Amino acid sequence: MNSKILIVEDEEIIRIGLRDNFELENYEVETAEDGEDAIRKADEWKPDLVILDLMLPKKSGFEVCRYLRKKHPQIFIIMLTAKTEETSKVTGLEMGADDYVTKPFSILELLARVKAFLRRVPQVVGHPVPEVPDAIEFQGIRLDFRKFEASRKGEEIELSTREFQLLRYFWQRRGEVILREDILQDIWGYTPDNMPTTRTIDNHIVKLRQKLEDDPAEPRIILSIRGAGYKFDA
Ligand code: CA
Repeated sequence: MNSKILIVEDEEIIRIGLRDNFELENYEVETAEDGEDAIRKADEWKPDLVILDLMLPKKSGFEVCRYLRKKHPQIFIIMLTAKTEETSKVTGLEMGADDYVTKPFSILELLARVKAFLRRVPQVVGHPVPEVPDAIEFQGIRLDFRKFEASRKGEEIELSTREFQLLRYFWQRRGEVILREDILQDIWGYTPDNMPTTRTIDNHIVKLRQKLEDDPAEPRIILSIRGAGYKFDA
């Protein structure tokens, strides 16, 4: 079955443009014009991924995001923010969005990111990727990938879908040196000729360490490998 994408955008030209492009890529697409419509359609239609504009009538993208994260933790959320809304990126990620794209955006880049999220089987050339169990435990951390629940020393911690995805990826490659470029390609869906600064990843790792590590300054779970990337020690 094709993945389902809900596009929430009040500007008609953008909404229709996105819908047409995603339909061309064989996704099932629904659209919503305001925040309340978005929530209703998410509840009824259960999309796999929501592309969510920030400034919306009736309910803002933030409110919708917070609601979705609570009611439908398995849905991926990509926020659309205007360039002038720099701080909204941070807030959007804090609200539980998995990613954000700044307007004006390139449709190809957005498609690549969506594909990366919805790709169920990681494509790694050369060696098979080990299966990941529904739940794993390491160094006092427990992750349940099916229920999207996480705890540290018995206490619940909040992780975004992206963070779950990242940890799942790390787990599959535990003990290996993982290049930042590989993470950007496999998790974010960038291509080699379309690479952003690797700081994108470093910022995510800083946040993850704050949630997982006893001492984020002296990490023991996600280790830095100078000049290369990271190594996951589980
Ligand atoms: Ca808008």
